[in-house]
Amino acid sequence: MALLLLIEDEPGLRLTLTDRLTAEGFTVESRAEGLSGLEAARRAGYDLILLDVMLPGMDGFTICRTLRDEGVDTPILMLTARGQVDDRVAGLKIGADDYLPKPFHTPELVARIEALLRRARKDPLAETLRFGEIEIDAKAAIVRKNGQELVLSAKEYQLLRFLAQRRGEVVTRDVLLKEVWGYHSTPLTRTVDVHMTWLRQKLENDPSQPAYLITVRGMGYRFDG
Ligand code: CA
Repeated sequence: MALLLLIEDEPGLRLTLTDRLTAEGFTVESRAEGLSGLEAARRAGYDLILLDVMLPGMDGFTICRTLRDEGVDTPILMLTARGQVDDRVAGLKIGADDYLPKPFHTPELVARIEALLRRARKDPLAETLRFGEIEIDAKAAIVRKNGQELVLSAKEYQLLRFLAQRRGEVVTRDVLLKEVWGYHSTPLTRTVDVHMTWLRQKLENDPSQPAYLITVRGMGYRFDG
């Protein structure tokens, strides 16, 4: 059964939501304050985070942005006061998955939660990604260009897949190091650039004018396709 983290400072709402969601079969943990909420959200194991916007300590937008910057990809459903239309746009822009204005009815909240959980369960590792002449067969861990298999090292493949799954997003070198190389190794940021050069030589028609693996100056890399 799904484990939810509820970050909400209104005691009445926190209690009501915890009761109702528990009655729906979810396991709910809650935090009443932003900083402790962020700390809890960083831990792996939650299937979804319900995040209030106005919170003491740290607001919901900052929590959401911080989690996404750190590579935490737990689905986030933001809760906020009705009428704050801009909040919806702001929330989705910084990486929230959905938004629900207060007050809401529990069945609607449950429906949104279940939709997000279903979406998250789709195994991204089993997807085949296609970008024009490039095909990333994630099940077989093979990359083809115009139908021809490219010979990539494991790291080159992982780097490409990570970026391609986030098409159009800027990914920092730090995030790439953490997600592709992992915590156990301590490579230099330059490691990313070196692998990127090799990957471009194999993937791009003209490695000096990349069409897919774009350098975003001062920030990191972005996959265009
Ligand atoms: Ca609040």
